[in-house]
Amino acid sequence: MERRFRDLVTTLDVEELQKIQHDIETGGIHLKNLVDDTIRSKLKEHQKVCATCNNDLDPYSSSSYTLIFGPSDFRKQASFCGLDCLSFFLINLKEMKAEKRTDE
Ligand SMILES: [Zn+2]
Repeated sequence: MERRFRDLVTTLDVEELQKIQHDIETGGIHLKNLVDDTIRSKLKEHQKVCATCNNDLDPYSSSSYTLIFGPSDFRKQASFCGLDCLSFFLINLKEMKAEKRTDE
């Protein structure tokens, strides 16, 4: 489920919003650190399971791969347990792009 920042902000108490407002007015360092840490831990989470077969990934395995793709301001990351799952993902991605192109 896609969640938006706007939806999250409307659920916060006024006191919490005032704390965030104060942080932003004084350089936003706490907010920046929170966002940086959350992105880092979410990206790590992505590296735990194969994006194709959902198998758990061994972090020390030399046969696993991680693909980083997308524009520089919106990088996406996917990890795979082996070359078969990586190539399956790439073939699907290629087909999705080709279908999108014929729709336009
Ligand atoms: Zn796999």
